[in-house]
Amino acid sequence: MSTLQDLVAARHLIAPYIRRTPLVPSRLLSERAGTSVHLKLECLQETGSFKVRGAANRILALSDAERARGVVAVSTGNHGRAVAYVAGRLGIPATVCISERVPPGKAEAIRRLGARIAVHGASYDEAEAYARALQREQGLVFVEPFDDPLVVAGQGTIGLELLEDLPEVDMAVVPLSGGGLLGGIAIALKAADPRIRVVGVSMERAPVMVRSLQAGRPLALPEEETLADALAGGIGLENHHTFRLVQRHVDDTVLVSEDEIAAAMAWALREHHLVVEGGGAVGLAALLSGKAAGRGRPVAVVLSGGNVGQETLARATAGGDRPHA
Ligand SMILES: *Cc1c(COP(=O)(O)O)cnc(C)c1O
Repeated sequence: MSTLQDLVAARHLIAPYIRRTPLVPSRLLSERAGTSVHLKLECLQETGSFKVRGAANRILALSDAERARGVVAVSTGNHGRAVAYVAGRLGIPATVCISERVPPGKAEAIRRLGARIAVHGASYDEAEAYARALQREQGLVFVEPFDDPLVVAGQGTIGLELLEDLPEVDMAVVPLSGGGLLGGIAIALKAADPRIRVVGVSMERAPVMVRSLQAGRPLALPEEETLADALAGGIGLENHHTFRLVQRHVDDTVLVSEDEIAAAMAWALREHHLVVEGGGAVGLAALLSGKAAGRGRPVAVVLSGGNVGQETLARATAGGDRPHA
């Protein structure tokens, strides 16, 4: 499991490849929530999501021989983009496997970064099976999207930045899928003060980690269409790290509806002129809907990504922040 020291080491290593993203106060959300609310803008991160942090920390740890053979990843879009970007900057060949479900814009962005794209299967799990086969057959290094201590440590650098920018932070509201993001941030925050609350937010449609936490063991669920496409996919029935990490650290979980996600995307665009993708907006949706509430002390909400196509954005934001059919 990653430690605070691993996060500090990651921070130095990945600094040349990432942006130190801003933490901005949201006056309107603070008024609504009755406490000061700050937005961590990973939607402005290099490649459009925080995933570049973990991918950089993992890929920079490769040996020369591994770099020469290359890397393979499976992705709902953002992890693939992050892997393609880091591998491209280091001159390492990269193959990214995606399912037919991944929005075409996300696939195109990965291709433009110089990675080879393999479209395979109707779900994340099917694309993953194909990536594992390439790993075995071609001796490629499989870059995990979340279930790897180096990836977790990379994502956890967000927690270090939060503590610097908002030392009095009392609660972090974090999008939750495989748990690398939440787990990494929790390592930093809980080391600073175990009383800081960490709240995970997933979509109602196939929230695999939340159902697994409730069951006490990793589960698999059929994938469903959702605006939060970056959160779709399983946590691995053989999950090694992040299930236990999230189980240990998460204080609460919240599920948000498609309408609430759309409303949060619309709100971010209208009130903050921020393009936030569905998966990146679930934390905001949890606060705006009142499903997550602060304790009268400062709250940080992670806006984890901004990679959304213009059409999806237009559709999601067409109803303003009223409930959306
Ligand atoms: C991957 C991703 C998440 C979830 O991260 P996990 O580490 O899998 O929990 C959240 N938001 C966005 C935009 C992502 O790309």
